[in-house]
Amino acid sequence: MTVSERKLNEAIDTLKESGVRITPQRHAVLEFLLNSVIHPTADDIYKALEGKFPNMSVATVYNNLRVLREIGLVRELTYGDASSRFDCNTSDHYHIICNSCGKIVDFHYPPLNEVESLAEQVTGFEISYHRMELYGKCETCQKVETQKH
Ligand SMILES: [Zn+2]
Ligand SMILES: [Zn+2]
Repeated sequence: MTVSERKLNEAIDTLKESGVRITPQRHAVLEFLLNSVIHPTADDIYKALEGKFPNMSVATVYNNLRVLREIGLVRELTYGDASSRFDCNTSDHYHIICNSCGKIVDFHYPPLNEVESLAEQVTGFEISYHRMELYGKCETCQKVETQKH
């Protein structure tokens, strides 16, 4: 069994335990997310799956993502007015984002918990979480750039 197959089975167990019905579309959305490393938008998922499910709409994809988010299988990353991106890696990790193509890649670094406690001391806030994002140009976009010159 591959890593993603194992993850998919675990996720399906979580769905079952939560009493969530596993429709073929929900299964496909979950499988797509688990195999994707770019943190897709609902639209990306829709485009990838519409061939397989001609009756599916973007709204259906959103609805499935909402269900998956509510039971903690998927994390939604919001970026102001831009479309939300979806991440099925719910462990603590950071993201690095390509300024040219918008791709988001996981970046593993020890969680900066001391920032949270310092912020609490300094501001009196009760910190719930923090988000750190690094921006740059991915390898693919760097290559495209070099070819142009
Ligand atoms: Zn890029
Ligand atoms: Zn991620």
